[in-house]
Amino acid sequence: MLLRHTTSEVKERTALTINPAKTCQPIGAMYAALGVHGCLPHSHGSQGCCAYHRSTLTRHYKEPIMAGSSSFTEGSSVFGGQANLLQAIETMFAVYNPDIIAVHTTCLSETIGDDMVQIIAKAREDGKVPEGKYVIHANTPSYVGSHVTGFANMTKSLVDYFVDSTDSERQQINVLPGWIEPADMRDLKCLAHRMGVKVIMFPDTSDVLDAPQTGKHQFFPKGGATIEQIRSAGDSIATLALGKSASTRAANALEEKCGVPRQRVELPIGLQATDHFIEALRTMAGVKVPSVITDERGRLLDMMADMHQYFYRKRVALYGDPDQLASLTQFLVALDMKPVYIVTGTPTSKFEQRIKKLIGNAVPEIKIARGPQADMFLLHQWIKQERVDLLIGNTYGKYIARDENIPFVRYGFPILDRVGHSYFPTVGYEGAMRLMEKILGVLMDYQDREAPEESFELVM
Ligand code: SF4
Repeated sequence: MLLRHTTSEVKERTALTINPAKTCQPIGAMYAALGVHGCLPHSHGSQGCCAYHRSTLTRHYKEPIMAGSSSFTEGSSVFGGQANLLQAIETMFAVYNPDIIAVHTTCLSETIGDDMVQIIAKAREDGKVPEGKYVIHANTPSYVGSHVTGFANMTKSLVDYFVDSTDSERQQINVLPGWIEPADMRDLKCLAHRMGVKVIMFPDTSDVLDAPQTGKHQFFPKGGATIEQIRSAGDSIATLALGKSASTRAANALEEKCGVPRQRVELPIGLQATDHFIEALRTMAGVKVPSVITDERGRLLDMMADMHQYFYRKRVALYGDPDQLASLTQFLVALDMKPVYIVTGTPTSKFEQRIKKLIGNAVPEIKIARGPQADMFLLHQWIKQERVDLLIGNTYGKYIARDENIPFVRYGFPILDRVGHSYFPTVGYEGAMRLMEKILGVLMDYQDREAPEESFELVM
């Protein structure tokens, strides 16, 4: 019993987080920056921060994550990191030749108050930024927000630095994908392609963090949105922002800067959220939905109907990022499951209302927590008070799942102890089928494992 000290009695806490249901802002900024072709992320802080950000992403994606660090020492911690960053910019362009260096700040550089706009301007004045190359930045103090906030901030920076409008409108839709896996991004582009809709997606980590093995190391893999594509987003007919927490800032900035109207929908995870995504694309682009896609939807409905008895009224606890949780919760209710506990460490406004709007009064006993004290400890306490049949969340839930013997589906970020999440999409109708398969797998494994011999069934 690794978590044997967790009690079922919940006490009011204001200044203590135990096992947070989130991770740090710069990790999200780094993930977003990797979704731009030829971009080298740079962490303006100590080497320890950068090592943590890189190792978390490396362990989740099983790919070597490249990034620079300003390598703060005692001197820079007191006097500021300008000299270190100027040196880093010069060295990185000389040695690694990226098209863009995407700098994100850390707790330390934010506390010092380093002025990134001024330092980047000085780098340009001093001739440290070669012709045709770029240095951009996002402020990502990790004592506020979470990795999702960092992702949102860097995505907005891409708009601030690159997006531009000319007088000629382009028949294309911007898709801000939110925090989803590389395979999900590829799948959404493929869905749009099958509908005959041209999309500009950024960030786009497909073919960067799931790049094929070719036997040759490529420092900058072939994937990622190009600067030209991002720049052209200002001429698109509309922006489709997926997920409120990760995409709203960039979508608003795009609308303000270039007048591109935006529509926001939930991440297309599950039946209804995928319906809304398809419908939004259809109306924005004025196209018809081809039968290959409606057939996929029909197969999902068939699977939901066939396996309904295994899902019916199963109690579920979920934790993770607000955008994923919103869509997942809605999908679980569509399966007639009961998402009873929902926890996110990411501060996000009106989260409870958002969930209730999506599921109505389907689960009156639902408990929802968000923010610093919405942590894994609280979730475990709720589970101790009344057990659940299924736990869904990132790798850190394995301790609760083991101690309480609860079937566990790994979903979200980070997943450090399994593979597949970055290769197999869970968005769209087929992605929803994969999610169902994963849920059914752990529920049925549990039933097989726990059944007394006289009830052990060959056919379930
Ligand atoms: S929380 Fe702050 S100090 Fe810790 S790794 Fe993240 S940026 Fe660095």
